[in-house]
Amino acid sequence: MKDCIFCKISNNIINVNKIFENKELIAFNDNNPQAPFHVLIIPKKHIPTINDIDEIDKVLIGELFIAAKKIAKKNQIEKSGYRLIINCNNDGGQTVFHIHLHMLAKRKLEWPPG
Ligand code: AMP
Ligand code: ZN
Repeated sequence: MKDCIFCKISNNIINVNKIFENKELIAFNDNNPQAPFHVLIIPKKHIPTINDIDEIDKVLIGELFIAAKKIAKKNQIEKSGYRLIINCNNDGGQTVFHIHLHMLAKRKLEWPPG
C-alpha cells in the first residue's frame, strides 16, 4: 500500500529503530508513547483493520502475540505486566489503518480505559 505509513516502515522506506523483526512482522517504539514502554507490533502484510483479517491470516495474527511474549521476556516486563491493545476504526481510536498491536508497560495502567 503506497500511502500507508506502516507499509513504508516495514519496507524500510521510513526508518525506525526496530526492536524485533522476523519474516512476517516488525516491532518498533511508538513515536508518541502513552507509557514508559510503548511498542507497536505490526505484520508486514497490509491488513487495514481487525475487520479485514481473513482465515488465511490466522497464523500471522497469532504471531503478533508470540512476538509480544518474546518482547516481554527480553525487556523483563513479563512479571510486572503489560497491556496489548488493537484499536479498530473510529470509536476504537484507530488512526493508522494498518493493523498493529500496541504493547504498553512500565506503569500501572488504569481500567476502564478512557
Ligand atoms: P492507533 O491510534 O491505534 O491507530 O495507533 C497508531 C499509533 O501509531 C499511534 O500511537 C502513533 O503514535 C503511532 N505512530 C504513527 N506514526 C508513527 C511512526 N512513524 N513511528 C512510530 N509510531 C508511529
Ligand atoms: Zn500498510
